[in-house]
Amino acid sequence: MHDPAITQLSLVRQLKFCAGHRLYRHESKCAFFHGHNYRVDIEVVGVNGGTEVDSVGRIVDFSMIKKRMLGWLDDNWDHGFLIFEEDDNALAAIKMVQPTKYFVMPYNPTAENMARYLLEVVAPNVLGDLGVVARKVVVWETDESCAVAALVGDASDLTTPLESAVLIDHRM
Ligand SMILES: [Zn+2]
Repeated sequence: MHDPAITQLSLVRQLKFCAGHRLYRHESKCAFFHGHNYRVDIEVVGVNGGTEVDSVGRIVDFSMIKKRMLGWLDDNWDHGFLIFEEDDNALAAIKMVQPTKYFVMPYNPTAENMARYLLEVVAPNVLGDLGVVARKVVVWETDESCAVAALVGDASDLTTPLESAVLIDHRM
């Protein structure tokens, strides 16, 4: 016995932003403050499993993915600094600059961890009411290098409220 083939539909939206970071405890040049022009590819499927579309033929309108995800990125990461919560030295430095914009992460802001954060925390919070779930997030740090975070298993376990995982300081 085997399951018959089904067609699974998904959408991929590309999102771009600029941000600074450094990698705490990195053994080489990534320990310095620096920045990247990041590109994110986010893949979403319908909560029904990716086999159904609406009366227009869509999983969800592309513009909604842009509005929600790019809106969040613009507000929180774009032109800001991403800093690991244990990196006291970088936090002290960034707080001395006025105005400043930084985002405290629960782990080092590598491309891997940024992809994980977008997949596990941001996407469920900002896309949840659209009836879609992010299945994969790819964070391109350079034209040649990207990290991939992919969801395996039941997405309903992802219930981390956005507020509890992060600290945001928009002092201007
Ligand atoms: Zn870097």
